[in-house]
Amino acid sequence: MQSTQGTDDTFDYVIVGAGSAGCVLAARLSEDPSVSVCLLEAGDRDKSVLLHVPLGIAVVVPWPVHNWAFSTVPQPGLDGRRGYQPRGKALGGSSSINAMVYTRGHRSDYDGWAALGNAGWSYDDVLPYFRRAENNERLADEFHGRGGPLNVADPRSPSGFPELWLAAAESQGMKRNARTTTHNAPPTSVATVALDRIATPSVNRGQRTICGVSSAITRSWPATPRTIAVQS
Ligand SMILES: Cc1cc2nc3c(=O)[nH]c(=O)nc-3n(C[C@H](O)[C@H](O)[C@H](O)COP(=O)(O)OP(=O)(O)OC[C@H]3O[C@@H](n4cnc5c(N)ncnc54)[C@H](O)[C@@H]3O)c2cc1C
Repeated sequence: MQSTQGTDDTFDYVIVGAGSAGCVLAARLSEDPSVSVCLLEAGDRDKSVLLHVPLGIAVVVPWPVHNWAFSTVPQPGLDGRRGYQPRGKALGGSSSINAMVYTRGHRSDYDGWAALGNAGWSYDDVLPYFRRAENNERLADEFHGRGGPLNVADPRSPSGFPELWLAAAESQGMKRNARTTTHNAPPTSVATVALDRIATPSVNRGQRTICGVSSAITRSWPATPRTIAVQS
């Protein structure tokens, strides 16, 4: 791969896209001090206050600010209208612009994928990884974990409105689920969780883990062992 300095460079792994998945992958791969990792992101750094103050979502989601702001193809079910699809374009990807709600799929989602032949994707298979990722401030049981990199907490400044809404639902016979009200908090994105973890240890080990940010990256190739180039 050619680096931004114009010198030829090689890496064991080149990850295209520093979103939720890319940041976690870079962090996990970097735990092996013998490998070098290059993480590339088309968006900007995640320094903007809009990405760190939760209210910033009101600005970045409707506008193409740290946001690819995609449109869908015309949707037959919407009388041909196109849907709006915000997606994060910055370090952290969509986790830098999302609503910070900690939520998981339903058991039947994962079991459905396993039933289609995807070994290792049943709910019982993935649950240990959810627990291992989590540092839940309130819950620690067979479903929720403590000590992981992703902090999960109740809202720090709860508004009274959700409580009124939940009480109204309860009055109609719906059961309250105390497990669904938690937030990722703080830090605010997967980049701040995963990349901050690799920065110091990898520098200490002299390991080469770099993260490039460039709006020039417009195309990518699947990152297989045969990947030889990532360029515009
Ligand atoms: C507005 C919004 C609110 C959400 N709210 C929640 C929530 O409250 N709770 C929750 O659990 N989930 C939420 N989500 C969903 C969650 O954030 C995403 O599912 C998750 O971040 C997806 O991770 P990913 O790694 O697949 O993609 P992303 O995090 O989107 O990462 C993809 C990255 O790849 C980069 N990229 C793309 N193409 C290239 C290229 N050619 N070269 C280099 N880089 C490239 C992008 O810029 C981006 O940074 C929300 C999403 C959005 C958009």
